[in-house]
Amino acid sequence: MTTVSLKIESGATQLTLPEGFRSWLAFWEAQRGKRATQCEAFGCDREVTEAGRVIKVGKVDGVYILPLCDRCSSLANTRIFKAWDKDLVMLTQEPEAAT
Ligand SMILES: [Zn+2]
Repeated sequence: MTTVSLKIESGATQLTLPEGFRSWLAFWEAQRGKRATQCEAFGCDREVTEAGRVIKVGKVDGVYILPLCDRCSSLANTRIFKAWDKDLVMLTQEPEAAT
């Protein structure tokens, strides 16, 4: 398993919740097949409060959803953090990065 360096996606991209889901956390849970109860930032075990929109540092290939706690999501605005690659759920693909 590998970890990736991430930061919060700060763009103002308007994303429409896929049909059939009532929240981005529910969407993430459906994609990953597990409950989003614990912050997915590496080394953190606080309670999830929101679905963070993150991008990979150094290799921006799209926007991903990652469940985060309130502390990580606010810290991550200015800091790079790590998470398991497998826990990222792809949200949008950057058209220019598509191969
Ligand atoms: Zn956290």
